[in-house]
Formats: sequence, structure tokens, C-alpha cells
Amino acid sequence: MAPPASASAFLTALLREGLTVVEVGDWRDHNRNHKGPFGPMHGVMIHHTVTKGSARTVDICRHGYASLPGPLCHGVITKDGRVHLVGYGRANHAGLGDDDVLRAVIAERSLPADNEANTDGNRHFYGFECENLGDGEDPWPAVQLEAIERAAAAVCRLHGWNERSVIGHKEWQPGKVDPRGFSMASMRGRVAERLTHPAGWDRTDQEEDDMALSDADIDRLADAVWRRRISNQFRVDEKGQPRQIAAEDFLEYGDAHYDTLKAQLDTLTEQVAQLTALVKGEQP
Ligand SMILES: [Zn+2]
Repeated sequence: MAPPASASAFLTALLREGLTVVEVGDWRDHNRNHKGPFGPMHGVMIHHTVTKGSARTVDICRHGYASLPGPLCHGVITKDGRVHLVGYGRANHAGLGDDDVLRAVIAERSLPADNEANTDGNRHFYGFECENLGDGEDPWPAVQLEAIERAAAAVCRLHGWNERSVIGHKEWQPGKVDPRGFSMASMRGRVAERLTHPAGWDRTDQEEDDMALSDADIDRLADAVWRRRISNQFRVDEKGQPRQIAAEDFLEYGDAHYDTLKAQLDTLTEQVAQLTALVKGEQP
């Protein structure tokens, strides 16, 4: 059983994960708790908003619609990667979903198909709405995807969950398509990687590490260089093109050629010595 984190703990977790957080109005007390329970918590749900424009998106998620009162999530992740906190507590984001999916999320195992709408999701999931038209064409900026990854990881750290506790709305409720434009499998992969590092980890550090080559990498690279065919500008073929030769063959050829020349030179040196001796009237 995981009771909801306090609003302050939730905020602190997001900040510690390196996110830029905007606190909107009375977000700590803006919720739908009068309509039903909030908790125990079992996971994090990711959505897209089908809206354009950050200010308008945040406003809609805070206030909702006549037919669906806000808050529509806890955090709104805009295209600039900021997280706007619009509510805390029960929020209208997850709707009714599949109890088999909930059991899988709790057990942190792979998800079954969401083919039932029999379970209250607003009770059990933290929700992040992400600014995107959801048409499959509206781009997801890298900074926004990273913010989604960080926000999901922050909540996982709060509860000691792994990446399997992070799902998309489309994996929960039949008929939903959000989020669209990236795969939840890839996002879970990113969250899993992040959770192997301390909170606030910056991926660029890792990219630099990835550039460092192991001794085995260097050996493979060196072998590849020697096998690579190079152009010999000083030797042309019958068509007048530079001869192509593997670097290692060139070296072997050059080495053999050296041995031949050295043997010839030794012979010539000996003959010159003999001739010199004859000229001077000496017996060699
Ligand atoms: Zn949704």
C-alpha cells in the first residue's frame, strides 16, 4: 500500500530530478477529492492534451471543461520542458480502466491488453498531461521528452517503483490513443536508465562516457583500419586509376619489397668490394 506523497514531497521530488517547476495557483489544494478517493497510489500515467499553446494548455488542465471539471492532471509538461503543477489529489485524468492492467502495474510486470473499463484510475495514478496535438505529426521536442522521463522517474523514486509503474493512458483505458508520437516502451526504457543514476542525473554525462572506448573497442577499430582498402596515388592500374589495396596488404608488400631490395643491395655491395679489391690488386 502506498499512500499518496504529500504535495511538498511531490514538488521536492520533481525539483530534485532537475525539473523546472511552475506552481500554478492553489495547486496543492486544487483537486476532486470531494468526488472520490485518492490513493493508494500504484503508478504514473502519461497523456497528451490535444491542445496548442502552453498558456492555454495549462489553463485548460487547471480548469477543465464544463463536462469534465479540472484539475485534469497533477502536472502539465509543456513543449519547453517545464512542469506546471495545476492540482494535487484526485484529478480527472485516468477515467475508468482495466483491472488486469492495474494488477500488472502493481506487480510491475508486462501489461495485458486494456479491454475493460471497470476500475477507477483517478484514485490510483499520478497524472502528467503533455502539450501535444496528438495527431502523430506535432513534434515532441527533446527537452519535453526528457521532462516526461524526469517527472515519471521522480515519482518512481518517491515510491520505490521501477519503470513498469509508468504507463500511457492508451494502455489503461479502451479507446484512448494518448500519448501518441513516442512509444511508452521507449519512455519506460529511458526511465529505467534514469533510475540507475542518482536523482537529477544529466544524460549528457553518460553520452560522454559512451564516447570512451574500451581496449577491446580500440583493438577492433585498429583491425578495421588495417583491413580498410586505401588508394595508392603513386601506382595506377591499367585504366589509370589509383590502385586500391588494404592497408595491411600494403604493409606486407612493402616489407617483402624491402627484403628483396636489401638482398640485392647486399649482393651489389659484395660485388663492389670484390671489384675494388681487383682494381687495387688485392685478393678478396
Ligand atoms: Zn489521456
